[in-house]
Amino acid sequence: MTATIYLDNLSTTPIAAEALDAMRPWLECEYGNASSATHALGWAAAEAVELARDEVARLIGARTSPEVIFTSGATESNNTVLKGIADSHAGSPTHVVTTAIEHPSVLSPADALAARGVEITQVSPDGEGMIDADAVIAAVRPETCLVSIMLANNEVGTLQPIGAIGDALRKRGVLFHVDGAQAVGKVAVDVEAMGIDVLSLSAHKLYGPKGVGALYVRADALPDGLPPLLHGGGQEFGQRAGTLAVAQIVGFGMAAELARGRWREDALHACTLTSALWGHLRAELGERVRLNGSSEHRLPGCLNFSIEGVDGGAVIAATPTLALSTGSACSSHRVGSHVLSAMGLGEDRQQSAIRIGVGRYNTERELALAGSALVVAVQRLARTGARWASA
Ligand code: PMP
Repeated sequence: MTATIYLDNLSTTPIAAEALDAMRPWLECEYGNASSATHALGWAAAEAVELARDEVARLIGARTSPEVIFTSGATESNNTVLKGIADSHAGSPTHVVTTAIEHPSVLSPADALAARGVEITQVSPDGEGMIDADAVIAAVRPETCLVSIMLANNEVGTLQPIGAIGDALRKRGVLFHVDGAQAVGKVAVDVEAMGIDVLSLSAHKLYGPKGVGALYVRADALPDGLPPLLHGGGQEFGQRAGTLAVAQIVGFGMAAELARGRWREDALHACTLTSALWGHLRAELGERVRLNGSSEHRLPGCLNFSIEGVDGGAVIAATPTLALSTGSACSSHRVGSHVLSAMGLGEDRQQSAIRIGVGRYNTERELALAGSALVVAVQRLARTGARWASA
């Protein structure tokens, strides 16, 4: 059987060997509970967690590491922020500004808040998936208690003007949450320089393990932190109860340390490979392939395109050696793409979309093979399928 060429790194990344190695002892012999303060196994686990916390804090430019709390992933972090902020403003008129292209882990809690009477404004993107900083600021009202915007979109990879928005919101004293799940470890993220008050992170998007993430909460923006989503034993400075997943956290710490050292090199590698693939597709298939999202402000390694008249799912089915997707894994149960739709792209363009996520461990040869396989599949579908518009 031919090995799969993994090109779905936006869905999840393979774990770095260094992260896996770092995790092993914490799964085998170092089984202490990080909250056990009465013996050496507990102390060792607590120390390992703090070292990982330092690494995650360093990766995002946090001033102090206790501003980082560990969660089960960005879904939990996003839910904690939206629900927590609404809870802490319960009883008074509350307004939240977000966008139409957020991840479901922001959109769904926002829907739940709306059902509770919180007013939600969703700013729409332009045709490239870009959110206008001025439109965000214009949506802010006196009762706005939170602005929540993703840094990199998980379907088209468009990078938002977070620094400009953060700057303006800081002057107005409005809390700014950024979903950094796709971006942290791939592009420069500095919570101080970008004016970010709260940031959601996920380890499995940056070559760490699944099931662990973090929430950065700026100490001087929220001195008491956020109201916890999970109540219990008071772990994570009382902000997230539950026995700490020490091995996962250690793996996350190692992945963060690696990313801090090599994200520029990774970004260059991913951009070089995606550019070569894009060049090949355009040379072979011409104007029929159209880029979705911004060509300029784009997450390294993300390539989302539509092939005129050809169903994206059919291309994926016709290229079984490639691991690709038609959009977001988290939205795969939905019909169409809420992101492409908000960008104003029609049903045909949505139906024919393919998302490729190139990562650290992909090679030039893999991308060359993927390019050839895609062209062959599209040309065959074009010959045989009724969906090739101009055939
Ligand atoms: N936000 C974005 C932008 C994402 O891409 C994802 C993962 N697809 C999440 C949040 C959720 O992250 P996790 O899988 O860690 O819950």
